[in-house]
Amino acid sequence: MEFMFPPVPPVFLPIAGKTSVFPVHRVYCVGRNYVEHAQEMGATGREPPFFFMKPADAVCYAGPSAGLRWPYPSLSKNVHHEIELVVAIGTGGKDIAATDAQRHILGYAVGLDMTRRDLQNDMKKQGRPWCIGKGFEGAAPIAAITPVDAAGAIENAHIALTVNQQQRQSGAISQLIWTIAETIAQLSSAWELQAGDLIFTGTPAGVGAVSPGDILHGTIDGLEDVVLHVV
Ligand code: MN
Repeated sequence: MEFMFPPVPPVFLPIAGKTSVFPVHRVYCVGRNYVEHAQEMGATGREPPFFFMKPADAVCYAGPSAGLRWPYPSLSKNVHHEIELVVAIGTGGKDIAATDAQRHILGYAVGLDMTRRDLQNDMKKQGRPWCIGKGFEGAAPIAAITPVDAAGAIENAHIALTVNQQQRQSGAISQLIWTIAETIAQLSSAWELQAGDLIFTGTPAGVGAVSPGDILHGTIDGLEDVVLHVV
């Protein structure tokens, strides 16, 4: 077989402490998974989780050593940061029970669900898909994946984001409305998860706009920091 043109090379992320890398398959995202962020986005109460996706090639490595220069995306005048815990799937499966979810996880990473909020809101109002708000080039900067055993007790970790050293977002993974295990169970009832899938698990309160010149610095205890220079 001969390709008409060279296929796109796989997107991958480094794995902390390993020479092998993580080839990315799909990128799933959970909406409104922390109470205070759900409230700031206009939700009330505990809703069932809902999901959207980003293309795999929206992923870009943004660990501290990468010094990633991130171009402000086109069309938008209101690009928002959302700091999130990203779960990296190492073993696929369909209809995974929450009680069995842990063995499907390879590791965790800090990610930014970058969002063209104005475009997303236009689509929301019209009941249209969010792709233009969530799925643009560079929309998923992620630091290195830390294997489960090296990450410590992630469910007790603190999650935070500063912009130009000012605190913007702060929360605890324990505040997730739907736990990591429940999210994997729900997702795998709708899609067959595969090794290489990434899951953005939602953002705590405090999302806000970024501007060229900003430096974003995201942290979760036990994981490599994510650092982004908006240009
Ligand atoms: Mn998000």
